[in-house]
Amino acid sequence: METFHKGMELINPKDNMSKYFVNESDNVIVNAFEKKTAVHAGLMDKFAPAEKTQSILQEVLKQERNNKTAAYIHVPFCETHCLYCGFYNQPYRKEQSRIFTDTLIKEIMLWKDTKALNSKPVNALYFGGGTPTALEVEDIKRILKTVHEVLPLANDCEITMEGRISNMTKEKVEAYLEGGVNRFSLGVQSFNTDLRRSMGRRSDRDTIIERINMMKSYNQSAIVLDLIYGFPNQTMDIWVDDIKTAQSLELDGFDCYQLNVLPNTPLGKRIADGSINPALDVKTKTEFFLKSIELMEEALYRRLSVNHWQRTTRERNIYNQFARGYASCLSFGAGAGGNINGYSYMILRDYKGYIEAVNHGIKPIMGISIPDKDYALYKEIAESFENGWLDLKRLENKYNYPLISMTKDILDQWEKAGVIMQQSGKIILTKAGQFWFVNLSQLLQEFIKLTMMFNEKDVCMTVTAG
Ligand code: SF4
Repeated sequence: METFHKGMELINPKDNMSKYFVNESDNVIVNAFEKKTAVHAGLMDKFAPAEKTQSILQEVLKQERNNKTAAYIHVPFCETHCLYCGFYNQPYRKEQSRIFTDTLIKEIMLWKDTKALNSKPVNALYFGGGTPTALEVEDIKRILKTVHEVLPLANDCEITMEGRISNMTKEKVEAYLEGGVNRFSLGVQSFNTDLRRSMGRRSDRDTIIERINMMKSYNQSAIVLDLIYGFPNQTMDIWVDDIKTAQSLELDGFDCYQLNVLPNTPLGKRIADGSINPALDVKTKTEFFLKSIELMEEALYRRLSVNHWQRTTRERNIYNQFARGYASCLSFGAGAGGNINGYSYMILRDYKGYIEAVNHGIKPIMGISIPDKDYALYKEIAESFENGWLDLKRLENKYNYPLISMTKDILDQWEKAGVIMQQSGKIILTKAGQFWFVNLSQLLQEFIKLTMMFNEKDVCMTVTAG
């Protein structure tokens, strides 16, 4: 908290306004900030003391969920470690499929009769990881059967299976579809075989296209994929070809994400020791970003969020919206993060510890956070920035805070710098603002929170003095 306090004294963020301003420049999309602040915007959670984790969790489970809800199932295995990935946890071994599935089903059953689980429909269920498609067919069938029996899935629940192309055999695809999966999210990243292999991905371009066409032939689910720009040695020609190839497949939608090199990933380490060329610099990434917008608009795709494009109405992108915004997320599986009514929790990443705890009838939570009284407001701000706009007037009315006057100096500076446009209490991100939306979202949330803390401190002092 040293950023916010001078000793024990809380600093008024208005005395430190330059921290919240954007660098003004003729080329603001490149120079607005030195670097990206985080992958997703959000304020630091305040965690409960470890000894209270389980008792708080039990109390939370007695509550009705107060908002829209997703569910997330984390399968912690990967067959290989993609160099850029910070989520890798466990190598996949066939014999672990049954053991993990038995444990996961037990874990889901632990919450079977709780109010938190049963109180409202679940609108989106996401199988992520790791690689959920690594699991054996019989096991994924058992998991899908369990979630349908136990979770209150809405009639129109979006059920996504995230997966790797190499796992997408006909047998597996048919098992997913029979089990109710209605959306596939494929981590393709690039169709360029050399680039893929240099990042630790196995399948080649022809295999990807052939498997996607096989999956499309069932005509039973949305199929979306991720593309990433920013890899070492990725050229504009490769990027344009990736987008045009994805478009030619007539998918339901796709994402164009920016690569963030994390220092503790194999890629981060190899760039640091010089054995791999650096990732693309910010200026080049802005060019790739702008090119993706140009090509997607030219092809008449609709934009569901800054990074996500929709071609057909089969694609709804519900889980991603919920996960980054104001929604509960019931989570299961080693390493999963979730939240119920703003109480965020993290399930043990240590696989053996996870199996042991569940077999002893304990949900192995590493920690649980106590929600800020205004957590819903901050989540709504984060969700809106993901979408490229913010209706501050609506939030002001809903939460009864003077948000527009509170943030006026910052928003006016952002508008002058060229990262937003303002229209009667609404903020629309320019393309430069979209490129830096995580930084903008983070700064605005922090400024509002500190201003409220500072004002509350003043109120306390006035009351005490009076
Ligand atoms: S990108 Fe996916 S498959 Fe690759 S290591 Fe990360 S989680 Fe595993």
